[in-house]
Amino acid sequence: MATVEVARPNEGVDNLMLGYSDLRSLQTRRPLVIARGDGIRVIDENGKSYIESCASFFNASFGYSEHELAEAAYEQFKLMPLYSSASHRTVDVVLRLTEMLTARLPLPDAHISYCCSGTEANDYAVKFMRYRNVYEGKAAKRKVISRQNSYHGSTVVDSSLGGAKGLHDSFALDMADYRFVTQPDYFNNRLEGESEAEFVARLAKELEDVIQEAGPETIGMFFAEPICFSSGLTPPPDGYWPAMKAVLDRYDILHMDDEVITGFGRTGDWTAVDNTLGFKPDLMTLAKGISASYFPFAVTVISDPVYQGMLKGNDIQHGFHHAGTLHGHPVGAAIVIRVIELMEERKVLEHVREMIPVLHKGIHAWRGHEAIADTRAVGLAGAIQLDPAAFGPKGEENRGQMGQRLLECCMERGLIVRPRADSVIIGPPLIAGAADYEEIFALLALGMKDLQEEMR
Ligand code: PLP
Repeated sequence: MATVEVARPNEGVDNLMLGYSDLRSLQTRRPLVIARGDGIRVIDENGKSYIESCASFFNASFGYSEHELAEAAYEQFKLMPLYSSASHRTVDVVLRLTEMLTARLPLPDAHISYCCSGTEANDYAVKFMRYRNVYEGKAAKRKVISRQNSYHGSTVVDSSLGGAKGLHDSFALDMADYRFVTQPDYFNNRLEGESEAEFVARLAKELEDVIQEAGPETIGMFFAEPICFSSGLTPPPDGYWPAMKAVLDRYDILHMDDEVITGFGRTGDWTAVDNTLGFKPDLMTLAKGISASYFPFAVTVISDPVYQGMLKGNDIQHGFHHAGTLHGHPVGAAIVIRVIELMEERKVLEHVREMIPVLHKGIHAWRGHEAIADTRAVGLAGAIQLDPAAFGPKGEENRGQMGQRLLECCMERGLIVRPRADSVIIGPPLIAGAADYEEIFALLALGMKDLQEEMR
């Protein structure tokens, strides 16, 4: 039978559901379709090149064309392409990786549970906390406190503990086990005349009040990024973490450190535990950069005291009843091993530490610009916050969306930035060099100029 060619001007898009996109506009406006990668650049189906100044979602740490990682994957595919790590069976690469990870993470006697995404790793962190508390004789300690405007993933649990009120309502989430406190975003959340020290003291008091109100015997975990990216990149003020930790310790509440973005190099270290938190977390999650995102791979790291509680459950239940068919995938493990090796062979952490001041200088150079309200930089990431009022009536119309408007102008110039409310954030692949930063800031300046002209 002859095949009939059907003209499809929006080919491939009709049946596609794209997250954080307007599903209706997908029918009429083709999304950016990437065909290939080259270093820190991606090239679309029409051959236009863009610098991915946010490493996609802060995850493409080695950029988009690292053949060493492709080779590591291919070698493992040929040797042992899949195997489920469960039921007292695993793969040699998983053992090798576990040893390499524990030697580099700041919790040397921790236990590692593998999965496939940051979302999953965070969901399991909550699950493991509850499991541990059940067998430590405090089953009521199951609630989670997190921070407004945070993002921790997309399952029911992660969407609940993420601080986006709109999602709680629109997905009809059961919010009984979740509480929220203020994000340590000093610029946007301070009271008039409040010093940083007063701001920190107010947030610690707020945490204590929330615990008291919910009942300390019901709160199991505080869940947060060490530096919050989802809130528009908000570095915590000095003293924030010690003040919060003191409250958590007073009420026997576990600290869960979401290092899905900050982990594996973004702050110039394997994690932000030593350079930002200043204390060891009880649980920690890593994803994105761990495999440079060349494979869906993530881990939940469980400190030994928490693990000891889980062991009690194991003994009573005759085993640990938790697994996933693809958890600890051998190809993912082989890629992570190569990522670690490349980071060490090429001194990537040292390179990041050299690039941090270059990025910060480029970001803070925007201070004083007529259209900029605030600049923030921490680790290998920076944000500029636009002042909608500086763009006249069109700026006011777009209040809360100025980041998106600037992204649109930057994309015309061949630069992808990450919008968040009135801010745009950059956090390039870890491999970006000084010349790349020069180009990123030059394109950002052109995008800003275009936006100012467009809104005049
Ligand atoms: N945690 C944080 C801080 C994130 O930014 C993200 C994703 O952007 C996640 C968790 C979820 O990770 P994934 O997208 O790998 O599921």
